[in-house]
Amino acid sequence: MKPPTFSYVAPGSVEEVTRLLASDPDAKIISGGQSLMPLLAMRLAGPSMLVDLKAVNGLARIGIGETEITIGARVTHHDIESSAELASALPLLPFVARFIAHPQIRSRGTLGGSVAHSDPSAEWPTVLLAMDATIDVVGPRGGRSIAVDDFFTGPFTSSMAFDEVLVAVRVPRADRRWAFQEAARKAGDYGLAIVAVTAGVDADGRLHGCRVAVGACVGTTTRLRDVEDAIDGAVPGETLAARAEAVARDSVQPISDIHGSSEYRRRLLGNLVRRAVTDLTNGQ
Ligand SMILES: Cc1cc2nc3c(=O)[nH]c(=O)nc-3n(C[C@H](O)[C@H](O)[C@H](O)COP(=O)(O)OP(=O)(O)OC[C@H]3O[C@@H](n4cnc5c(N)ncnc54)[C@H](O)[C@@H]3O)c2cc1C
Repeated sequence: MKPPTFSYVAPGSVEEVTRLLASDPDAKIISGGQSLMPLLAMRLAGPSMLVDLKAVNGLARIGIGETEITIGARVTHHDIESSAELASALPLLPFVARFIAHPQIRSRGTLGGSVAHSDPSAEWPTVLLAMDATIDVVGPRGGRSIAVDDFFTGPFTSSMAFDEVLVAVRVPRADRRWAFQEAARKAGDYGLAIVAVTAGVDADGRLHGCRVAVGACVGTTTRLRDVEDAIDGAVPGETLAARAEAVARDSVQPISDIHGSSEYRRRLLGNLVRRAVTDLTNGQ
């Protein structure tokens, strides 16, 4: 199928982008086009105008600060995968980038596009939720920062308004352990279940401030608060990992689709949670 007819603009500033979006509720931003173009080709979206971010300066930078890392909306998955600075400052991000699709898609698809698209099966929403990120957006009324806990409101929906542009994602640079687990039918496929965990470790070896996020097997990227409560304050080990698995299996009602039943995904999720908590034990 061919996409429906639309007009195309590539403004040079964020202000101009927001002005265009506010002037036409049927206008849509295009960034890497790796989610939007398939939707257009299948006629699942029919915007009147595409507002391309490619000419807006300053959206493709990675800034490594002392307390946080700022990643511009147009930084691609490949930029993250290949960044030596990120590999040293926050290795979870380059590690995860490799799980996203294939090199061709990673070289065009952007972090901002993935977060704005808010696909519960995408890797970045799950990881950013576990990392306690902040999402910076700009609209006609000015800029605002949204805590990731308040960002993903449903499948493919977020708390951004239609006339707001996602400009950057900020991730705290804290001394925390992390783990990431994904089960997919084959490399590059969307996951059937995704789990990301971050946690601090006290001097006596106890976990604190645990954040356990799950994607792909649920309708909305979400935190597993029951699992967080079960592992917070405990010393990691096989017993804790087994407890986390049991709690995870009891605390979600996974989706069921042609790729796997709800019960299959429940077992998968439990296994991934156990592996992730075991990885924390290993001190990644
Ligand atoms: C075959 C295939 C396999 C894929 N597999 C995976 C996978 O395994 N895991 C995964 O996570 N992704 C996967 N993707 C999607 C890919 O990661 C996309 O890059 C990503 O979802 C969207 O980024 P984009 O820059 O291409 O956004 P676009 O397609 O340009 O835009 C997506 C949506 O976000 C909006 N948007 C984009 N940027 C902004 C912004 N800055 N502010 C506000 N709104 C914005 C657009 O209006 C649109 O609604 C796959 C894609 C394909 C084609």
